[in-house]
Amino acid sequence: MSQSSWKDQIKQKWGPHLHCPICGKAMPSDRKLCSQACKDNYIKSEKKQKKKGRYQMIFLVGMMAVMMILMFALPIFS
Ligand SMILES: [Zn+2]
Repeated sequence: MSQSSWKDQIKQKWGPHLHCPICGKAMPSDRKLCSQACKDNYIKSEKKQKKKGRYQMIFLVGMMAVMMILMFALPIFS
């Protein structure tokens, strides 16, 4: 009886637990993600977000460069 799984522990008493940020399942509070599959998903989405952030930075810098060019170029053409 000493080998009770965390699922049983949660069933017995709704003790300290967290919900997996990927799939929303209940899991023990000492874990960050419920399963290896969710871990993989998490790493994947994090990588994607980092990529997205980089693109946003490039876009922002590009926009600023265009604005600067326009600001300097408009007085010449007008
Ligand atoms: Zn999960």
